[in-house]
Amino acid sequence: MSEDAIGANLRKIRNGAGMSLSKAADLTGVSKAMLGQIERGESSPTIATLWKIAKGFHLPLSALIGELDAAQPDPAEPFKTVQFPGSIAVKIVFPFDPELGGETFRISLTPGQTHVSQPHECGVVEEVFVLTGDMEVLRDGDWVALGAGEGIRFQADQPHGYRGGAQGAEFLNMHHYPRHVGVVARG
Ligand code: MN
Repeated sequence: MSEDAIGANLRKIRNGAGMSLSKAADLTGVSKAMLGQIERGESSPTIATLWKIAKGFHLPLSALIGELDAAQPDPAEPFKTVQFPGSIAVKIVFPFDPELGGETFRISLTPGQTHVSQPHECGVVEEVFVLTGDMEVLRDGDWVALGAGEGIRFQADQPHGYRGGAQGAEFLNMHHYPRHVGVVARG
């Protein structure tokens, strides 16, 4: 994955909002030192850390992980896949659109791989639609089994998760945000 692109996105957003690292740390619960390391490309953030930043800044995830794939330009799939070390791989299918308040990712799970997410901002709703393989989604405290061609919608402002079945899975993951998301408060 490219820490440089994530760091550059973060620095641009923070500077654009006129926000200090201290203020950013207060808003996100991510330490000033860690934020600085991410911005300088010295640290590879986990997806959990990126979600803390997104939540604190009221931003969609694609604002942080978006990186156009300049090496292999393909109008149908312009974004690079972000492989989080030891975790899931995330590719932007549709980046965040402020008019629609949504973004869509394609995520791969290896067999048995479990990823549990902390609650997103109040009001965030997710949908999962399985493309290949089978998987389970943690919704309201229960793991719900889904096969290819099946989908589920759930409140994502509470703990939720994804688990790959015996063959692993590829799925689409839609995020629907409340209206105020996508505009960073000035620091
Ligand atoms: Mn989530």
